[in-house]
Amino acid sequence: MKSVVKKGFVYLVGAGPGRADLITVRGAEVLRFADCVIYDKLANPALLNLAPKNAEIISVPKRTGGDSVTQKEINRLLIEKASEGKTIVRLKGGDPCIFGRCAEETAVLADAGIDFEIVPGVTAGIAAADYTGILLTDRLYSSQVVFVTGQEAEGKQQSNIDWNWLAKSQGTIVFYMGMGNLDSITGRLMENGMAVDTPAAVVADATLPTQRVVKASLGRLSKKCKEEKIEPPAIVIIGAAANSDARLDWFTKKPLFGKNIVVTRDAGGNAAFAAKIISRGGNPIEFTTMEIRPLTESNEFLRAVARLHRAEFDWVIFTSANGVSIFFEALQRLGKDARIFGSARIAAIGSETAAMLSEFGIKADFVPTVFTGEQLGKQLMCFTNLQDKKVLLLRSQLASMELVEILEQAGADVLDAAIYTAIAQKSESGWLIERISRGEIDWLTFASPSSARMFFEKVPIGVVNSGTVKVASIGPTTSEQLKNLGVRIDVTAGEHIIDGLLDAIEKTHL
Ligand code: SAH
Repeated sequence: MKSVVKKGFVYLVGAGPGRADLITVRGAEVLRFADCVIYDKLANPALLNLAPKNAEIISVPKRTGGDSVTQKEINRLLIEKASEGKTIVRLKGGDPCIFGRCAEETAVLADAGIDFEIVPGVTAGIAAADYTGILLTDRLYSSQVVFVTGQEAEGKQQSNIDWNWLAKSQGTIVFYMGMGNLDSITGRLMENGMAVDTPAAVVADATLPTQRVVKASLGRLSKKCKEEKIEPPAIVIIGAAANSDARLDWFTKKPLFGKNIVVTRDAGGNAAFAAKIISRGGNPIEFTTMEIRPLTESNEFLRAVARLHRAEFDWVIFTSANGVSIFFEALQRLGKDARIFGSARIAAIGSETAAMLSEFGIKADFVPTVFTGEQLGKQLMCFTNLQDKKVLLLRSQLASMELVEILEQAGADVLDAAIYTAIAQKSESGWLIERISRGEIDWLTFASPSSARMFFEKVPIGVVNSGTVKVASIGPTTSEQLKNLGVRIDVTAGEHIIDGLLDAIEKTHL
């Protein structure tokens, strides 16, 4: 009898030019079911979070230009993993087949009879132009675009690049891997007749919060890049297109562009916050102060769930998105679902908490107009008569008693059930203290009193108060904690959610 061996499959996926959310929908989809991800230096490591938790992750850093031994090693790895019957995602920066050594990898797979799919990606040359408002084609001045490797310019005996043709070509030339040879690239073009004053640009770290652009004439480009200490990865664009209208440089005009913003929550909260900062052009620096620990195995919690099941509550209140997700995880473990709420009504402290509830199919019956515990209590008692009503509060063990007191004053019978707590996380803080002292950090953000307290257990208050760094607080409770610690506060969010915090920071930079 013939034994059936599960055959592996390889997806060659373009990760996009740098920013994690510039991967394609198909690329993100195949990452979600990968058994093994083999990724390059230029692929954004944040994308690895899309892969299943138990997926094998292999980093294969490779020098640009590539040394063949490492490429051989990658080829061998692909075959080895695929022969184990695994689904492999080979994640490469930009588009997998633009200067991506795809020829070797696909040939090796074809020889071994292993099936594959190529998922295109946004290539760096196009992204660098789009993110700086350089228009690669134009009806008037550029009817063609050429992608060229800058790695060939020196060393190679027989060049495939026709410098004479390139120098005379009308249109736009885009060089990849050109920084090491910029002198020689610009020199060869000029030797072959390209005008010294041809517009040129270099875009480094395109699409990332650290993006930099240098524009100069062909004759001055290399010198200017040296003066400005431009480092790879960078794209070189040559031709009339590089002389773009400065008003089109949309990315670096974003108010948070280039701002170093420290996020101080738990790891999961920091990742979500960082994504929002990146989408506004800022540079997030993650500093984890604490770990969120569910308390949903406690008898107190299980008793509360049993009472909820017996329809003993009139209102259930959630005061954080964390609380909602931890509650639903626990429900699932207990073999229950949202029907446990029965006819109880549900309140959320703010729009983030309400949005998390709606992910579980629940529409909050009440959300106050100001997202604080105090306003939740005060507005809820105006919205409904709480006299003798049974209220279940599902929230952090560390939350203040203010909300409970307000609800009790309104006549409610409150069960304040702790469903999670925050535990201080040991994190090395020397590097951050140094960067704050050197004036390299623009903002410290605090999204809860606990993260503020735990942050200043690791970073001396004096370093912050005497430095140029600014402090942003999400709302009055966090600000109060900061004030009690003696920390100078520069802005407090108007809307007490992460987006409100970023809006407040943005306003100071407009
Ligand atoms: N397959 C990739 C290119 C790999 S070659 C793609 O399609 O984009 C590596 C070169 O790509 C680098 O030397 C640099 O020229 C360019 N590059 C990659 N990421 C870049 C980025 N974020 N900003 C500028 N150039 C980048």
